Amino acid sequence: MSPTNVPAASSVLSVRNLAKAFGDTVVLRDIDLDVRRGNVVALIGPSGSGKTTVLRSLNGLETPDAGTVRFGAPAGGTATLSLDFSAKVGKKDVVAMRDRSAMVFQHYNLFPHMTVLQNVIEGPVQVHKQKKSDAIAEARRLLAQVGLADKADAYPFELSGGQQQRVGIVRALALKPQLLLFDEPTSALDPELVGDVLAVIKELADDGWTMIIVTHELAFARQVADEVIFMDEGVVVERGPAAEVLRAPRHERTRQFVRRLL
Ligand code: ADP
Repeated sequence: MSPTNVPAASSVLSVRNLAKAFGDTVVLRDIDLDVRRGNVVALIGPSGSGKTTVLRSLNGLETPDAGTVRFGAPAGGTATLSLDFSAKVGKKDVVAMRDRSAMVFQHYNLFPHMTVLQNVIEGPVQVHKQKKSDAIAEARRLLAQVGLADKADAYPFELSGGQQQRVGIVRALALKPQLLLFDEPTSALDPELVGDVLAVIKELADDGWTMIIVTHELAFARQVADEVIFMDEGVVVERGPAAEVLRAPRHERTRQFVRRLL
């Protein structure tokens, strides 16, 4: 690795020139993205602009056609991870990348036939080979943290959307990822349930979690994000500190979008 390629100690993620097409449709073009430890990046933009595809690419759910994704060393560790999608990327590297990040989905994606507790320990036990009793103890601690201590034995269908999403968040936290990825975490919720979920995410930000949040909640983005990135038609149009991009956007496209939502 040349010195310029060595990630700074505080770099969690560094993406360069990420590109993706589905057939003839170009969905992402030359996406660059940097996230430092403890920072929150809000990814905003119209529907279809490629935001979800960016997140899915970072979690191994889509395979980009080109570009590099580099994860810096985890806190206390030394192992960096680099994937160059312009070359052939091995399955092992994709699994390693998936291990560095954890996704919270718009529609929660909980296993319907498993209890809340079983949903949360599934990854730690099956994927990370954690001892079941340890995984259960940690799951209960995390559930208590989001106000769901009494729901451990409930099934997803017995919970409100907001509660299911909090389980989705706990399931991601239980994997101890370097980076949390939120894909429109509140857009499937009834309006009165949005606040609880946003409050949990805000707490995580205050606790120092590193995250990328795709969201249409611009007031929330202004509150929690260190950086806001506005995407349109597969490219990054504008990026900068949340206050600048949301209060005084430089580009007309950003201005129109923000005006409609704020
Ligand atoms: P956003 O999250 O900003 O709404 P997406 O990343 O979901 O945008 O989608 C970007 C574009 O890619 C859209 O035009 C969408 O229709 C297209 N797309 C996403 N996933 C697929 C897929 N699996 N096959 C074909 N087209 C897709």
